[in-house]
Amino acid sequence: MSDCLFCKMVRGEIVPDIVYEDANVLAFNDINPQAPVHILVIPKQHIATLNALSDKALAGELLTRCALIADQQGLAENGYRTVINCNDQGGQEVYHLHLHLLGGRQLCWPPG
Ligand code: 5GP
Ligand code: ZN
Repeated sequence: MSDCLFCKMVRGEIVPDIVYEDANVLAFNDINPQAPVHILVIPKQHIATLNALSDKALAGELLTRCALIADQQGLAENGYRTVINCNDQGGQEVYHLHLHLLGGRQLCWPPG
């Protein structure tokens, strides 16, 4: 989508602080980190929300990539959190599917 922020990153029109990239997935540091590690893992394909995610293989790639990045960031043993905000009440602000990977501090539960 031409006016989507994360699609612009996929196309290289905006250059994020990239942590990982392959043919289907891009991961980069969040601009407003909520934890010492706060990485966004996105599909390169524009999918607006979790509601529109029907590709099970891609869903698996995104989730397993989170776990691999968490391991590379040294978070696997102590723990971390993955979050997908969906639509208004879920707190979604950017309408291109993304998984938040948060770690490096004790995270609270329940979330706000
Ligand atoms: P949401 O609220 O949609 O689940 O999360 C959107 C996330 O995108 C937020 O954590 C926000 O800080 C992050 N974000 C918004 N704009 C930018 C940007 O221009 N660059 C980066 N790296 N992250 C952004
Ligand atoms: Zn997009």
